[in-house]
Amino acid sequence: MVQPTCHFTVSFLEPGNHIYDVALDVTDLPEGRHALTLPVWTPGAYKIEDFSRHLFDLSIQNPLGSLEEITHDSKNRWLFENAGDEPLHIHYRVYAFEFGVFTSHLDQTHAYFNGAQLFLLIDDYKDIPYFVSLKKPAGWTISTGLDPDHINPGWYKALNYDILIDSPFEIGTQSIISFEVDEKPHQVAVYGHGNEDLGQLAKDLETIVKSQRQIFGSLPYNHYTFIVHLSDKSTGGLEHLNSTTCGVERFMFRPWKNYKRVLSLFSHEFFHLWNVKRIHPDMLGPFDYNKEVYTHLLWAMEGFTDYYAFLTLRRSGLYSVSDYLNALSKKLENYEKRPGKFVQSLAESSFDTWIKFYRPDEDSVNRTISYYLKGDLVGTCLDLEIRRRTGNQFSLDTVLRRLYERYGEKGIGFPESQYQDTVEEVGNSSFQDFFDKYIYGTEPIPIDEALLTAGLRIDRQYSKLKEDDTENSDSSSSQFPSPWLGIDTKNDGGYPVVVAQIYSTGPAATLINAGDQIIALNGYQVKKPDDIKNRLEYDHHIGDTVAVSLFRQGHLLTVPVVLAPKPFDKVRIVPVDNPDPGQKTLFESWLASSWNYDQQASSKTSPPSPAQ
Ligand SMILES: [Zn+2]
Repeated sequence: MVQPTCHFTVSFLEPGNHIYDVALDVTDLPEGRHALTLPVWTPGAYKIEDFSRHLFDLSIQNPLGSLEEITHDSKNRWLFENAGDEPLHIHYRVYAFEFGVFTSHLDQTHAYFNGAQLFLLIDDYKDIPYFVSLKKPAGWTISTGLDPDHINPGWYKALNYDILIDSPFEIGTQSIISFEVDEKPHQVAVYGHGNEDLGQLAKDLETIVKSQRQIFGSLPYNHYTFIVHLSDKSTGGLEHLNSTTCGVERFMFRPWKNYKRVLSLFSHEFFHLWNVKRIHPDMLGPFDYNKEVYTHLLWAMEGFTDYYAFLTLRRSGLYSVSDYLNALSKKLENYEKRPGKFVQSLAESSFDTWIKFYRPDEDSVNRTISYYLKGDLVGTCLDLEIRRRTGNQFSLDTVLRRLYERYGEKGIGFPESQYQDTVEEVGNSSFQDFFDKYIYGTEPIPIDEALLTAGLRIDRQYSKLKEDDTENSDSSSSQFPSPWLGIDTKNDGGYPVVVAQIYSTGPAATLINAGDQIIALNGYQVKKPDDIKNRLEYDHHIGDTVAVSLFRQGHLLTVPVVLAPKPFDKVRIVPVDNPDPGQKTLFESWLASSWNYDQQASSKTSPPSPAQ
């Protein structure tokens, strides 16, 4: 049977209008009724976006110049009748002014697009090749993971619709720097400027590529593209088969405490080229682009990716052991303070991502747990448990490698039950109890026991405002809790102080609401969040009743709140005093470090500052 051929031409000669003009030329489309659809979501971002809301001016022309009749029969679908087997010219426009990693943007400075917003699919022709060419302003260059077409100069070719959708384009005057690993070209394409040091970034990305390749043995692509957006805010990252887009705040490249967060984002997105893009449950590819797809395994796809993002930074030497353990401490602090950890399991968090994780609200802290955060910590526990049970012969690396060899490398997804089966095969014992408690259940994770196998213990304390400006850090810690209202205020720090979320476990849970504007404590005005923190810390005790005056929907109220002890929120991970040889060995192989690691501050410094 003859398959149709589809060629997209994307034009944006007047980028200031934020409109992509898209032509789709189709040949060999059989006679009869056909459907055009646009995805409602883009893989990796589990949120219904209804991209068709930005599509307009759709028309279909046959070679005689007459227009075909189109029926718009659902939010993302259009039907038409093809009378003959003549070529068709489908034309439409897409408004694109949403700056982000999984959206599309077009302005005077650049064009960035994801295929899910631009490329219509005809019927179910997902397995035919797609061609793309671009009409762009003079002087703009193209960065994409898509392969150039070897027959038509200037065209790009995707082997199928999934690859087309999975290959974003950055087009403009971006800075480009390249390196090779295994003789494979890697391009870093950076839009925007800040305090970036591209030479350093490329060097560090090369280190990340080499470190992660070691787990799987080779790089499963011919070339790789890092698209980097530098702007006034962090917009996260999105993974693809042989590219990623990472949105970084433009001044995050110095000092080291900022830059190490940038590296963890790149490390996370790069690791995804294996974990989720190739190793994935069968629901996550090939995709249904018309509706939500459900999986219980995002803790393994995202949480374990985050675990390896940091672990491979440590193994590569980019992170010191202290950097690694400090990052782990921060994750534990975030996990511990979240009441939702005892409400939602990891499997539920994954399944409900479409309506919960991607649609957070003021109550999320109480009812949900992030599959990134808890998934990462459970990854730590599982890795150390496999190492313990197998005498350090196998690890979570082995699990991922086996799943990759059996499924990922062959381009197929696995049934969900395969994950636990593979863990049990590698661990050579049952992990039913582990999965029941920490994946399907909400029991406290066994992180203390896990870290102890590697000779580490968790020191839990309470953060305190710093009393003395001679102290180095922003806060200090104590064995004793401070008085606590159990609220978080909005971060902008301005006046009035607005309540962002209320902890269901705190003393104000039934008294103060999210959105309330707090204006006074015990009759005295508060102008900023720190006023509340300072007065609670220094002027009150646990058990005191404070009168909180607030505006609720414009109505002045004063509510009495009895101050409770703040839950511990400061974690330090420290070596045990007298480790046995087994603990030392496990530590050393897990973190690729000698037991006597740097216990000072990070050994790493920022790239040198440019001359003043
Ligand atoms: Zn991710």
